[in-house]
Amino acid sequence: MNSIETPELISALSAVRQAATVCGAVQKSMNPAALEKKDKSPVTVADFASQALICRQLERDFPQDRVIGEEGADELRMSQGAAFLKQIHEQCIALGVQCSSDEVCDWIDRGNLQEYQPRFWTLDPIDGTKGFLRKDQYAISLALIVDGKIVVGVLGCPNLPVDSDEPDGARGVLAWAVTDQGSWMVPLDAADPTPVKLEVTETAEAPAARFCESVESGHSSHDWSGQIASTLGISREPFRIDSQCKYLAVARGDADIYLRLPTRKDYQEKIWDHAGGVILVEEAGGCVTDIHGVAPEFSHGQTLAVNEGMIVTNGRFHQQVVDAVGSHVPAD
Ligand code: AMP
Ligand code: MG
Repeated sequence: MNSIETPELISALSAVRQAATVCGAVQKSMNPAALEKKDKSPVTVADFASQALICRQLERDFPQDRVIGEEGADELRMSQGAAFLKQIHEQCIALGVQCSSDEVCDWIDRGNLQEYQPRFWTLDPIDGTKGFLRKDQYAISLALIVDGKIVVGVLGCPNLPVDSDEPDGARGVLAWAVTDQGSWMVPLDAADPTPVKLEVTETAEAPAARFCESVESGHSSHDWSGQIASTLGISREPFRIDSQCKYLAVARGDADIYLRLPTRKDYQEKIWDHAGGVILVEEAGGCVTDIHGVAPEFSHGQTLAVNEGMIVTNGRFHQQVVDAVGSHVPAD
C-alpha cells in the first residue's frame, strides 16, 4: 500500500517536482551565476526560482501557511539584484508560470518566515548548493511541521541514481514520507510510477556498517568521523555526498550511518537542512538524534537551537554510535 495522498502531500510533491525541473534546467545551462551571500555560500538562479515556485504553490493551496525557507528576496529587490532577478523570472516564465518579477520576489519572501508557528513549512530550495555548482548531488527539501512534529517530508534529488547499484543508470529520485505511512520513492521522470517503499538496512553490527558524510569537511568534520569509525571497528571507507541525499541514502539502505559532526562550537544547524530528511529516515525504520543522543527539535525557529550536529542510523546500534562520537569530542 502506498501512503495516503493528503492535500498537503499532493501539493508538496507537485511543488518539488516543478522545482526539480527548474533546477535541472539551470544546472544544464550553467554558467554558475553565483551570488555571494553574506555567509559566502554560493547561491544561484535556481535556488531562488525553486523557492519562488514552491512558495507559489503552497500559497495557492494553503494560503494560511507560512514557510521558513533558506532564501529571501531583499537583495533581488535592490538595483544590483535586477539582472539576477531577470534570470530567475525568465526561468519561471520558461516553465509556463506567467508572472511579474515583483510576484517572484513576493513568493520568495513568503518563505522568509523566521519564527516558529504551530503549523509551518520549511524549505531548502537547493540543499547542497556546492554540489549543485559542481554538477553533482543536491536536493530540494520541503517539510510540513505541525506542533513541532514533522508530518510530511519531500525530497527531490534530481541527480541521484534511481538504483544505487547502477550508478551510471537513470538518475532523479522523488522521495517522501508521511507520519505513520512509511517512506516512499519514485523516479522523478517516470510517467506513472509505482512507489517503492524505503527501508533502512538490517545491518546489526556496527563494524559491518557503511557510513556517509558531507563532501565538505567545513560542514562535518572528516577527522572526527575517522576516529569514530575506527572506534566502532568500521573499515569500509565512507562515501561522501552533498545534501540531504545522505538521509535518503540511509532511508533506502545505501548506507547504515550518516554522521554530521560539528566543525565549530557556535554553528547551529538549520531546520531546512534536516526536516525533509529526518522523517524519511524515521518512517523507513531508522533513528535520528543529535551527537548527544537528543532528538532534533523543530520548534525553535530557523535553527535546531538545542541540538548539535546529527547522528542518523538504521536504528540497530544507534547508542553505540552516540557513545563513540562522545568518546572523541575534540578539545576546543
Ligand atoms: P552538506 O551538503 O551536507 O555539506 O550540507 C549543506 C548545508 O550545510 C548547507 O545547506 C548549509 O546550510 C550547511 N552548512 C553551512 N555551514 C555549515 C557548518 N559550518 N556546519 C554544518 N553545516 C553547514
Ligand atoms: Mg541546505
